[in-house]
Amino acid sequence: MDSMDVKSPPGGEVSLPKSSSLNNLITVKGLNKQFDTKSGSVKVLYDINFDIPNNSFAIIFGPSGSGKTTLLNILSGLEPPTQGTIKIEGQDFYTVDSDQRALFRAQSMGIVHQVNYWVKSLSVLENVAMPLYLTGVEKNIALKMAMQNLDLVGMADFAHTRPLVLSGGQQQRVSMARALVANPQLIMADEPTGNLDSKNGKMIMDLLIKCQKELNRTIILVTHNIEYLPLSDIRLYMVDGKLTQSDKGQHAPMNEIISSLTSELAELTKLEQRQ
Ligand code: ADP
Ligand code: MG
Repeated sequence: MDSMDVKSPPGGEVSLPKSSSLNNLITVKGLNKQFDTKSGSVKVLYDINFDIPNNSFAIIFGPSGSGKTTLLNILSGLEPPTQGTIKIEGQDFYTVDSDQRALFRAQSMGIVHQVNYWVKSLSVLENVAMPLYLTGVEKNIALKMAMQNLDLVGMADFAHTRPLVLSGGQQQRVSMARALVANPQLIMADEPTGNLDSKNGKMIMDLLIKCQKELNRTIILVTHNIEYLPLSDIRLYMVDGKLTQSDKGQHAPMNEIISSLTSELAELTKLEQRQ
């Protein structure tokens, strides 16, 4: 396959060349993922297909272990698929080399990981500035932008502390600031409210909604919180590595919510029985 023509204009900005099907920011076709481990291969995703249009709020919903994080890692360029294609703005994301993919990720994607990754020796402020450093933004400007984003999530007072001394909720807010700092087109958040109290959780959700509605960003939220489903306009339901259903529209149909809830309850029951 031809390598993707990633342009680097003088300002250093990398953009993937646009094709005719620009309505869809992401198109996933025939995606399969298998991990080869010492004890054999583990198949985690099975023939996943979906589109995510620009400026949408998509939710990937499913019980623990259903493959949501693996799917998000593939979408963000961190984990190559075993089979299938991921097109971003019409171009195959895995035909560029990993350095180009990393640069594109730093400029165009904001990611809130399920487990926070910090450069432990750096301050909160410098961690938030990191995506800007990676794209060559001058240090003083990067730090100023990082401070503005910390302010946005109510964490400016903690700018000069180390991330690991913060509570889980505070770290998640800082992680959100880092995801937003480069003003990316696509924001992906993996269970960002999973371990938060309701006040911190609401703040993160409000920010995500604001990014979509006011800044026209595309959001992909991974969650198993059923309350969030009606906030989205695209829902992808995952069970055991398979996309069981997907739907678009302002409100999730009740029968689909109920069937997803039922599988989540079954999963919880299994977990309880194991304990
Ligand atoms: P979710 O985010 O929905 O909880 P994950 O994507 O984290 O699900 O995991 C889906 C399945 O894939 C799990 O059974 C998990 O153990 C397995 N898995 C994830 N990453 C790896 C890996 N690197 N090697 C082997 N198995 C993995
Ligand atoms: Mg996960």
